[in-house]
Amino acid sequence: MTNIIPKPVQTKIYKTGQTRGADDDVIYQNRVGRNSTVLIPFLEFDRCRTAPTNNGIYENGFIALIKPEYFFDKNVRILLESKGLHLGENLLVFYETRFQWNNYPPLAGWNAATSRVSPLGGQYVARVPATTAVGEEKIIEGFNSSRMKGAGIRVYEYADSATIKLCKIQLEYLFWSCKDIAELVTENGMNKDLVQQRIVSITRLAKGKGLADKNRLLSERIIDKEGYTICPLCLKHISARGFCSKIQQAEGRDVPDLTVTEVSLFHIHELRTGEFNHRPYNLGWGHHHCNVVVKDSGIESTLQWMREVINRNDAL
Ligand SMILES: [Zn+2]
Repeated sequence: MTNIIPKPVQTKIYKTGQTRGADDDVIYQNRVGRNSTVLIPFLEFDRCRTAPTNNGIYENGFIALIKPEYFFDKNVRILLESKGLHLGENLLVFYETRFQWNNYPPLAGWNAATSRVSPLGGQYVARVPATTAVGEEKIIEGFNSSRMKGAGIRVYEYADSATIKLCKIQLEYLFWSCKDIAELVTENGMNKDLVQQRIVSITRLAKGKGLADKNRLLSERIIDKEGYTICPLCLKHISARGFCSKIQQAEGRDVPDLTVTEVSLFHIHELRTGEFNHRPYNLGWGHHHCNVVVKDSGIESTLQWMREVINRNDAL
């Protein structure tokens, strides 16, 4: 397939395969593939131990993280055994508070972990913030070198590489399904024949992989009845031009109001622990602004909240 996709769209599609950003001092990796090593909080282990695909196996393994106060509890230790969790192999003690560090310190002989694959090179990892007290600086141990920053990704961000690829195909198909695509092509002087070829081939690919079911896309608020891509929250058409606001900027045109038109990846059912929602038919393109409003609460509860706000205002 000739690659005629505008660069900003290519970049947006590429980034959908990556996790969100993470600060230096947190335990998560910053913007890495969604198929990276998964971190599972011990209390969520039963819900998350089985990967959603690949015969239940995480492509790059998992590390379970246990609070020290649990780990040093004899009853929990027996439980760990029964769950197949072994310290230093697929389990680490995770220190997050000063209280934990002072009251359940790492045992003699323990090391801070250094590897994302078994054996993990240690038994614990620490991310304890500083306090205002003298001598209570932050404690950052394990997975903190520039080469090895972060132990893994949030379990709910996970998708295997095959799923990531399918999502990208569907998302490109949705880009070309924007109502104003012809205007974008004309305005940017793109080669119409190449565009047509690309649309034909991506449509064929999407259909062949079962990713172009209009009824499913419609019922998930990803496209409208006419098949045009819409924002899953406000249901307005997504603009291919808004998508490529960088192209417009480069050509010196007026920059549209980015808060309204900027397009970002939208998870229809929000990402949450215990579910694996980075998957086809759960991803669409939405307005950045609408995405921010929905955040982690989901479309339904956001709409409910909006109704209440409007009702209260109308009642004034
Ligand atoms: Zn919107």
